[in-house]
Amino acid sequence: MPRTGLVYHTDYLKHDPGEHPEVRERLGAILDSLDKFGLLDELEHLTPRRATEEEVALVHDPAYIEKISRMAASGGGMLDEDTVVSPATYEVAMLAVGGVLTAVEKVMAGEVDNAFALVRPPGHHAARGRGMGFCIFNNIAVGASFLLQRYGLEKILIVDWDAHHGDGLQSIFYEEPRVLYFSVHQDGIFPYKGWINEIGAGPGEGYNINVPVPKGTSDAGMYYIFTQLLEPVVERYKPQFIFIACGTDAHFYDYLSNLEITAAGFGRMTRHVMDMARTFCQGRVVAALEGGYNLESLGTSVAAVINEMGSFGRDIQDSILPPPNIMRPQVRLRIDEAIQFQRRIWKF
Ligand SMILES: [Zn+2]
Repeated sequence: MPRTGLVYHTDYLKHDPGEHPEVRERLGAILDSLDKFGLLDELEHLTPRRATEEEVALVHDPAYIEKISRMAASGGGMLDEDTVVSPATYEVAMLAVGGVLTAVEKVMAGEVDNAFALVRPPGHHAARGRGMGFCIFNNIAVGASFLLQRYGLEKILIVDWDAHHGDGLQSIFYEEPRVLYFSVHQDGIFPYKGWINEIGAGPGEGYNINVPVPKGTSDAGMYYIFTQLLEPVVERYKPQFIFIACGTDAHFYDYLSNLEITAAGFGRMTRHVMDMARTFCQGRVVAALEGGYNLESLGTSVAAVINEMGSFGRDIQDSILPPPNIMRPQVRLRIDEAIQFQRRIWKF
């Protein structure tokens, strides 16, 4: 059985956006759920280290890092109408990046086979010089850059199944062929980006894959995307390391999207990623928490993900009856369009 690490620190609770969806209680809900399903004692508990300014600067402009530091030190403020810097935010965000780096280091050292970084604030909207969409520093982007820099890896896959497009991740790696960014997200919601024809640029051309999907995509749609698009691409790309940008706001019970994914669906998506990781990169996977705002579905969904990462074999289902898991014709049409488009690029 694989050894699965869980990165967590109570300091992650100190980032305080006030009246906001991205609350500290999210992490408690996940820990409670892991406990409820008997998973908490099965995990290797990893204490995150703080990232250094130099490490965060692998991705972010030094002036932006400095800006967050000064803002927090002077009592906090707003980066945009949704993104709050509280007095503790700078240090917590450094520890969130450090959480992903810790997970990466432990996996690369073989101390664990894979790891889940239970961090906040989230990261996937943060661009080089700008935080937005609840995100301060791009935790996974720094993790991927760290793997390029420190370990000399050349093929890193990021699978982003948060309901929102990870525009920060896309922009950071848009011209980078060593990082393949794959995002499936709901069309027409925040950040109103992530179009199908954004395929990367320069040497990074072809290494950015967007699958914008409509309302009601459901587990059936995700299964179709994973088997008909992600797996054939991965067979060609042969990643050396896989990140999951693990937002659970695509869950049917989450109020920030309408994709109608179930907790069991997140589990199955994880199983696909783990299978690919075993085939191509010795099972090396680091998942990091992104969105997910309904506390119940967040807890159950992350438990379903971790259940598959560690092959724990628990039966994890939502306590609420899910909507019908059917492939709607308009969903099929839109996904087929994305698959046809990528087939021309990836020639599978
Ligand atoms: Zn999201």
